[in-house]
Amino acid sequence: MIKLSLGDITNSTADVIVNAANSALRGGGGVDGAIHRAAGPIIVEECKAWISKNKELPTGKAMMTSAGKLPHKGIIHTVGPMWEGGVANEDQLLAECYINALHIAFENGFSSIAFPNISTGVYGFPKRDAADVAICTVQNFLGSRKEQMKVSFVCFDDENFEIYKSILGED
Ligand code: ADP
Repeated sequence: MIKLSLGDITNSTADVIVNAANSALRGGGGVDGAIHRAAGPIIVEECKAWISKNKELPTGKAMMTSAGKLPHKGIIHTVGPMWEGGVANEDQLLAECYINALHIAFENGFSSIAFPNISTGVYGFPKRDAADVAICTVQNFLGSRKEQMKVSFVCFDDENFEIYKSILGED
């Protein structure tokens, strides 16, 4: 099942929320900053420990930490592609973010997951194109598993919300 909402992803009631992180897992601005502020320093330590073992989280890949002070069962961190004009495999890499995060959610037995609009902030991915990739990828992935997982797209800005609404056919 796919759901759409407008607001701050840290308020989502999903089992697990997804963070649009950077490869160093250092916490930055945008949704990353909001999640780190709400979850607190525990996840900074978890991210540091992960980085010291794995060096970096490559673009398109995903990993999970606890949710720190947040009530969720975990936070899945994924690194969206930086928009480079569409010539650097950005669509594929963005799709991988959604697929890899969904895999982690399924593997951990979660029944709901909330995604922000990955890469559409400072990484500059055109919003309409990013929404097409996000929705198409999630719909394909869910396939016959629609009943097993509730996927929420949590838009923070009105423009993304309107784009998602028009693609998903809600009014
Ligand atoms: P990226 O580097 O992947 O572009 P950003 O955090 O800059 O990441 O932006 C990704 C999206 O997250 C943008 O559409 C932005 O509006 C949105 N966003 C920012 N803060 C929040 C929040 N608290 N909850 C949900 N989405 C957010």
